[in-house]
Amino acid sequence: MIEGCETEEAAWEEFRRVRQAMDSSVREWSVAPSWHAPEIRRYLEAAFTFEHPRQAGELVSAVAALLKDGTVHVTHPRYFGLFIPSVRRISVVAEALAAHFNPQLAAWSHAPAANEIERHTLAFLLEKLGLDVAHGGGCFTSGGMEANLTALLTALSHAFPTLRESGLVGLQARPRFYVSAEAHHSFEKAATVTGLGVASLVRIPVDDSLRMNVSALQRAIARDRAAGAVPFLVVGTAGTTGAGAIDPLARLAALAEKQGLWFHVDAAWGGFARLSPRHRDHLDGIQLADSVTWDAHKGLAVPLGAGMFLCRDRAAMTRTFALATGYMPAATTGLPEPYASSLQWSRRFIGLSVFMALAELGEHGLATQIEHQFRMGAWLRRELQARGWDVVNSTPLPVVCFTRPGLPRTEFALDRRLAQLLARGKVWISRVSVPRKGWVLRVCITSFLTDESDLKILLDELDALRKF
Ligand SMILES: *Cc1c(COP(=O)(O)O)cnc(C)c1O
Repeated sequence: MIEGCETEEAAWEEFRRVRQAMDSSVREWSVAPSWHAPEIRRYLEAAFTFEHPRQAGELVSAVAALLKDGTVHVTHPRYFGLFIPSVRRISVVAEALAAHFNPQLAAWSHAPAANEIERHTLAFLLEKLGLDVAHGGGCFTSGGMEANLTALLTALSHAFPTLRESGLVGLQARPRFYVSAEAHHSFEKAATVTGLGVASLVRIPVDDSLRMNVSALQRAIARDRAAGAVPFLVVGTAGTTGAGAIDPLARLAALAEKQGLWFHVDAAWGGFARLSPRHRDHLDGIQLADSVTWDAHKGLAVPLGAGMFLCRDRAAMTRTFALATGYMPAATTGLPEPYASSLQWSRRFIGLSVFMALAELGEHGLATQIEHQFRMGAWLRRELQARGWDVVNSTPLPVVCFTRPGLPRTEFALDRRLAQLLARGKVWISRVSVPRKGWVLRVCITSFLTDESDLKILLDELDALRKF
């Protein structure tokens, strides 16, 4: 027997026990942590000096106990938070398989199976978006942040082909790109790390439904051109992070085309609607995008770390990231090498969890899972209204923002009230600032396990919140 095997077996057995305990009783768990950073730090300093080796089985049980008490349980059916899903068990197995074989996806020849599995998965999803698989391409990313950064880099190199050589300092132009006032702040970070600067990011006002105002966008582009700046990219959001608004994608696509600008759609969360025949048309216009951000780790019930960048023309990715080295294996397939057509170099097998979740459920099963979440969202929206809550967002996606007279509308006061609710541990919800409405409560159906019994507990807890 290989040394360490016995204790490794104990680790797997312990893992199985931890998983079963969670599966059978997660609804009884507190969603909120009972241990917080200061106690956890004291415990780690005392219990983990790394002086002596530990048994693997005992280690798994100690870490699992720590995670159980020191985590907001985003996989709990009553976690109604920030898009982080319950995970399908098959994708947990996929993560272990990926780690076990540890394929290096940077070069096609090193990991043909893993690369082909990712390509096959991305091709299926490209088709669901309505993008042409023959010319399209994409890559798995660490998340929406990396995918949006990839979009910005690809759009930049498309608009300014000399950029790669001469950098921003060599450009005569001041590049500008456009997102809605409600767009995700990863674009601000992307503007910073590309060296463009936050001033290059123009936030366009939204209408009463929190969708980008297309006339305002048109005026902003004209104003910037007149002032000598160079617009190069329009970003539409399909499902804003705060209130789930879907920008008018088809109209944005038409405007971007007329103006000669790259059109990117950030569908980090909302992309999952494309997998349901019933809901796919909510994202109509996405098929006209030059590129799309889509997080499998939000709507597709796989663990964190699985984002995607999908692109109408894979040659644009190669133009952005191409390079040659003396040490990487030679290309063998005619397809772009991953390290030379995307931001990462060494690549872990991110796509396996998506592939296996999709393959296990099948297309129809996945659609049913997604439609269940939409149905729960619609049920909650109706029920809140029936109970006198003022629902302030209108979106077909399963996220509801709401308030009522008597609840605080400022961040600090609402947070204090909410903290009392979260401390009870029965539900986890958030709050958000909505233009023209102020600070309101926010509930998102992130878990495929959430059912009406969970929503009834939520409604009771919201009644309790009014009385604190
Ligand atoms: C979550 C989110 C992002 C960022 O994605 P990460 O996976 O957290 O990096 C970007 N855009 C939108 C619309 C999002 O909801």
